[in-house]
Amino acid sequence: MALDDTAGAGALTAASEFDAVVIGAGPVGLFAVFELGLVDIKTCVIDILDRPGGQCTELYPEKPIYDIPALPTVTGQELTDRLLEQIKPFGATFVFGERVDEVKRREDGGFYLKTDAGREITAKVVVIAAGGGSFTPKRPPLEGIEAYEGTSVFYSVRRMEDFRDKDMLIVGGGDSALDWTLSLAPIAKSLTLLHRRDEFRGAPHSVEKMRELVAEGKVRLIIGQVTKLHGEGGNLEEVTVKTAAGEERVTTNAMLPFFGLTMKLGPVANWGLNLHENLIHVDTEKFETNETGIFAIGDINWYPGKLKLILSGFHEAALMAQQAHKYVHPDKKLLFQYTTSSTSLQKKLGVK
Ligand code: FAD
Repeated sequence: MALDDTAGAGALTAASEFDAVVIGAGPVGLFAVFELGLVDIKTCVIDILDRPGGQCTELYPEKPIYDIPALPTVTGQELTDRLLEQIKPFGATFVFGERVDEVKRREDGGFYLKTDAGREITAKVVVIAAGGGSFTPKRPPLEGIEAYEGTSVFYSVRRMEDFRDKDMLIVGGGDSALDWTLSLAPIAKSLTLLHRRDEFRGAPHSVEKMRELVAEGKVRLIIGQVTKLHGEGGNLEEVTVKTAAGEERVTTNAMLPFFGLTMKLGPVANWGLNLHENLIHVDTEKFETNETGIFAIGDINWYPGKLKLILSGFHEAALMAQQAHKYVHPDKKLLFQYTTSSTSLQKKLGVK
């Protein structure tokens, strides 16, 4: 999946309308697209992260999972890739790098949602698949950094164009730091990658590509740490970097620090839903919340006996979709069908 924010979102206009909005592109949110698609519900999936997979790709992309039915072993990244492949026929719209901040009921019974980027979307049903809550970037411990946030310091890339012709400083050694180094180097005026040691946690092929760019003189790699920011009025001009050789000043007007993420419940807590110890209380028939038309599936929900397992979330998605169909297509009766034998389901799946 491309790291650019146009992966589907480019087609969105202000106040785009969907049958369903799925909040969270973790494994459960992705599988919800499949179950909703089977019952003719078109979805938009929104995630604060810049890629799909939730915990699987953010916390353990290379670790094997052993309890996904029929897949004796699959890594977090492979599971995400397979889910993306499986949901392809339903052409969901994806919005990455945005957090859903508001969910409000409209007079017509549908919902109005707003993201922290000001994007407005309406939907007939809302499916919260927000896992442990929104991933929030860790702020580097640098004095006065808050003053530069949003103007010169960014924790995600919403629009690559915003970084054209900038003197960029990317800080970190994981996948995000490497991926954005590779994506932004061609459009930045200059790009420096700064990491505290000459070993990178990111995918080996990304490390290799980054080293090629360094050898070609297109990226500067510094091994060290930022110790001070210099600038005025929220505009960063230089940073002091401490290296083994001493201190130097690096010119930059756009810094992207990737210091990892923490999980916080975030705005979900303000949507008027009944909570049980920071999790959303749902029934076990439809996985619906106390608000009709708002569902919660996966790690974010709670009911007696809940197990925070991916397979539980998959089951919840299937039952949720049955009820969502009643709200989205009130005039249509839903027939129970198997994908093995139903030609109409196979048509939706593009089976030839
Ligand atoms: P998540 O994967 O947490 O995804 C939720 C997504 O919602 C996130 O991407 C988040 O950014 C997004 N989000 C939240 N709030 C908002 C908002 N307001 N706006 C926009 N986006 C938002 N489970 C197993 O079944 N088997 C295992 O072997 C296993 N191993 C694990 C190993 C580790 C190290 C960890 C940490 C977990 C493991 N799990 C395992 C648990 C499994 O990863 C979770 O059950 C699963 O990821 C839950 O999926 P989800 O889609 O509900 O939520």
